Amino acid sequence: MPTGNYDILFESVPIGPVVAKNRFYQVPHCNGMGHRDPTALAYMRGVKAEGGWAVVCTEEVEIHPTSDIAPYIELRLWDDKDLPALAAMAEKIHEHGALAGIELCHNGLQSPNMYSRAVPLAPTGMPVASANCEPVSAKTMDKEDIRQFRRWHRAAALRSKQAGFDLVYVYGGHALGFFHYFISRRYNHRTDEYGGSLENRIRLLKEILFDTKDSVGDACAVPCRISVDELLGPHGLEKAEIEDAISMLADIPDLWDLCLASWENDSQTSRFAEEGYQEPFIKDIKSLTRKPVVGVGRYTSPDRMAALVRQGVVDFIGAARPSIADPFLPTKIKEGRLDDIRECIGCNICVSGDLTMTPLRCTQNPSMGEEWRSGWHPEYIRPKESDRSVLVVGAGPAGLEAAHALGKRGYEVALAEAGKELGGRVIRESRLPGLAAWIRVRDYRMLQLRKLPNVEIFYDSELSSDDILSSDYPRIAIATGSKWRSDGTGRHATRPIPISREALVFTPDDIMDGRLPDGGNVFVWDDDHYYMGGVVAEMLAQNGCWVTYGTPAAEASVWSKNTLEQRFIQRKLLNLGVTILPHVALENIRNGEAEISCVFTHAARRCAADSIVLVTARQPADELGIELFNRKSEWNDKGIESVTVIGDALAPATIAHAVYAGRRYAEGLDTKRRTDDAVWFKRELPELDQ
Ligand code: ADP
Ligand code: SF4
Repeated sequence: MPTGNYDILFESVPIGPVVAKNRFYQVPHCNGMGHRDPTALAYMRGVKAEGGWAVVCTEEVEIHPTSDIAPYIELRLWDDKDLPALAAMAEKIHEHGALAGIELCHNGLQSPNMYSRAVPLAPTGMPVASANCEPVSAKTMDKEDIRQFRRWHRAAALRSKQAGFDLVYVYGGHALGFFHYFISRRYNHRTDEYGGSLENRIRLLKEILFDTKDSVGDACAVPCRISVDELLGPHGLEKAEIEDAISMLADIPDLWDLCLASWENDSQTSRFAEEGYQEPFIKDIKSLTRKPVVGVGRYTSPDRMAALVRQGVVDFIGAARPSIADPFLPTKIKEGRLDDIRECIGCNICVSGDLTMTPLRCTQNPSMGEEWRSGWHPEYIRPKESDRSVLVVGAGPAGLEAAHALGKRGYEVALAEAGKELGGRVIRESRLPGLAAWIRVRDYRMLQLRKLPNVEIFYDSELSSDDILSSDYPRIAIATGSKWRSDGTGRHATRPIPISREALVFTPDDIMDGRLPDGGNVFVWDDDHYYMGGVVAEMLAQNGCWVTYGTPAAEASVWSKNTLEQRFIQRKLLNLGVTILPHVALENIRNGEAEISCVFTHAARRCAADSIVLVTARQPADELGIELFNRKSEWNDKGIESVTVIGDALAPATIAHAVYAGRRYAEGLDTKRRTDDAVWFKRELPELDQ
């Protein structure tokens, strides 16, 4: 039932010559698929449109080979050859009545052009500002370069219209879009009419806005995406200056799409920023223009969204992550099905897809990136194909998702959990500093399971192999999770580290169970490299311990670069007084000290350590699975057809991997694969030029 309270979110809003059917706006977002996986990408965007978003945009689309940011995989619109891929996406978006937006982009100083081998272009020649510090410099653009650039942008705009897009962006956001470098005094040292005063620094942006409106403005809206602040204080672009720029350009674009720069500030995780964290930066912009404004802030609360519009902060609720976690967010709000919203947990695993150049995955939405290649849908799953029931053992993310997806398929399911609560690792991890929102992985699935009469949940039920063999369930999924290792084995030390008997050694499981070092010097050894080591160090420092954090890597929690968190983590640890020791190996643990060595020279030294926390690796809690396989000869007599170990119990990984494993198990039940060796998803291969 529609609640009525959110009617304001479903008003239509004109954007230049087009009309958005409601205020839900999927802003451009990267996805690690881009030009390599165009059909997968088209389907992914299509599902967002199906879910009710009024505007669905592409990621950045490189307009020319001089804007090549390989190895990262975005879209390209270099010439007509790129048109079919983009047209297919616009078509998928239109199928469901949404407007299709294309974010034309020239990366300028961010483009090392390692693939195209073009000389990079920038307002002022300097080393490229790319993430990998390629030994390449950009040339200072002369007037002919600027004229050429205007031609390329115009050509890309015309092709966008030809491909069927309704909104054609001019992109200066995130310190990625070209215009950012022109506006910024840091990067623009020119003394001609494109440098110096703010009016001069926005000249090219203004020219491109006019060019784009002139070329496609009859049929397409022309939004401008701009970073309101770089959060660098006077060293970077600040809100006051951008407000002046927006005032000067006021009504030239058809819409203002506001973000922060850089991307890591714009897409902060829930560990470091609350829902709506961008509000202070966007709240005054609407008074500077008569054109609609879209802003983001990881909004998942419909009340908050409606209030933002009512208060005149924005016209559109912009979303990347909330639309990834729940492509059907608008529909669910419209239908008053708020319980069904799969809220983004703000973990940025989705972002890691782009940064590892792999199709984006989502912790909450296992169908993300699988829409075309596996035929998965965020809301629907095909009905059961037999009446054979399933016992799922363990209610962590893998077990919960398996039970949920099997339940939706219509199977009779029993979910047995040893503990008194559902959620497995997310219950414990969500109690760690900054990770509270992660409990949404459990909460969403718990609410959904309550609606499935065919799923029965058994608490306090630690099952043994005898229990399982004497149960009536022919299919068994073992999702019993994992435990942190206490012997130091991990990535660097691939065998146990010598530990003296008197040494006080803890694992993250101890910490999460409330068994903590009671003050003094604590050495946290992080050979895991994702969030856990940093979180434990943070927590112990906050508890008053003198924390030394050692890692073989160059930086703390180094994999969290892929979730845009690394800098925030390192800054936090340093501000808490944690001593960070990069490039060290842990050799020996003795009573009161750790012996460490340099990973390059092997020079050894000692480090005072009243206690040591080993954050190295997790071991599958696979005893039950092993026991059942050891008793395989009994299965037939007991009516057991299959036992499948899934999630961390098979191979520990992220929560996103566990959720995916649960869904995959459920999808695979009663599916006949062609052969065991067949690739289980579709791929798109390049066409050979022969
Ligand atoms: P995953 O990430 O793979 O879902 P978790 O570690 O989060 O794994 O969850 C595993 C869950 O399985 C925990 O809640 C744990 O209590 C439960 N569990 C472990 N062994 C058993 C068992 N023998 N019977 C029932 N539940 C179990
Ligand atoms: Fe949100 Fe995490 Fe999913 Fe990204 S991966 S959309 S941050 S839940």
